[in-house]
Amino acid sequence: MSLENKVAIITGAARGIGFAVAKRFVADGAKVVIADVDDEAGEAAAEDLKSQGEAMYIHCNVAERLDVRNLVAETLNAYGDIDVLVNNAGIVVGADFLDLEEEDFERVLSINLKGAFLCSQAVARHMVEKVQNGGEPGCIVNMSSVNSVLAIPNQIPYCVSKGGMSQLTKTTALSLAQYGIRVNAIGPGSIMTEMLASVNSDPAAKNRILSRTPMLRVGEPSEIASVAAFLASSDASYVTGQTIFADGGRMPLNYTVAVPDDA
Ligand code: NAP
Repeated sequence: MSLENKVAIITGAARGIGFAVAKRFVADGAKVVIADVDDEAGEAAAEDLKSQGEAMYIHCNVAERLDVRNLVAETLNAYGDIDVLVNNAGIVVGADFLDLEEEDFERVLSINLKGAFLCSQAVARHMVEKVQNGGEPGCIVNMSSVNSVLAIPNQIPYCVSKGGMSQLTKTTALSLAQYGIRVNAIGPGSIMTEMLASVNSDPAAKNRILSRTPMLRVGEPSEIASVAAFLASSDASYVTGQTIFADGGRMPLNYTVAVPDDA
């Protein structure tokens, strides 16, 4: 298995894409730490995975430095190492530009972008020390979005945070390359999680999404997890500083595609 005995922290993994990544990593042999703010869902997610391998839940608000410090300490205490970090925790707050509240702008940026920085720095300090002591370099996978490039007018802080995630990925990759530590990102298109739940019940919203998706379907969390598994494995040993877009063809598309009635 490609992640045999690797220790992986996945933030925001109580549900959605993060949980799918955790599940895939456990199937690939990793010991997984689910870090989230939803304690009930996080504990249940870890219990679920324990039937297939090693997993545990640790409460962590990624925007809080002390929570992040505790996450690293507790992981090292439980598993003795950290090989992979997946910065997946993220939120959206929709508002038109003229109405957007300062607090909402700050909240999204502090979770989606500052949280990834705090976790990356805390975990990288451990990874660098390990390399300096003759150990194997680890890697970091950031959950970005097509919105790191494409903009939505009423999702301002979200798009800004994901644009920042692109540069965080590149700057961290350049800073850590000398140690052999790789940093990459995934840019999902529209993936069927609770974040996208309203689309299921809104035919107009579904049509809007599919008309921008040449593969004419929304993606599954497992289809993002498989990209994370590749980036975290030694199969990606010479890949760093990249964002891989798993988006059903949205990024190369100009204009829209026709959506059949039965799509
Ligand atoms: P989701 O279903 O809403 O799951 C996100 C998880 O993160 C939830 O358990 C959430 O807890 C947790 N979380 C929120 N704030 C946190 C914090 N401060 N610290 C730790 N955990 C926190 O979202 P998703 O759709 O799986 O998205 C996961 C990632 O993929 C995000 O970064 C998102 O931007 C990215 N992405 C998603 C899509 C998509 O179509 N779904 C597309 C592109 C990119 P609560 O539920 O309690 O808030």
